[in-house]
Amino acid sequence: MTFVITSPCIGEKAADCVTVCPVDCIVEGEEQFFIDPSVCIECGACETACPVEAIFHVDELSDEDQVYLDKAKEFFA
Ligand code: SF4
Repeated sequence: MTFVITSPCIGEKAADCVTVCPVDCIVEGEEQFFIDPSVCIECGACETACPVEAIFHVDELSDEDQVYLDKAKEFFA
């Protein structure tokens, strides 16, 4: 299980999440940051730190945001 970065990150890339992640699993992509689902320990620090509320626990993702979990998996594949 993991947290997932969604559309508000695109074009924003504030990067506050990278600073607070204790396991260093947030990486910058071309348009947005991604969380490595296989490394995330679900601490929730990034969700709190994100200034544009782009980060959600996987269980709280809307149907339309499911694609961002797929994008993260592809990014780290
Ligand atoms: Fe990192 Fe914690 Fe966010 Fe997972 S929930 S990406 S471990 S800050």
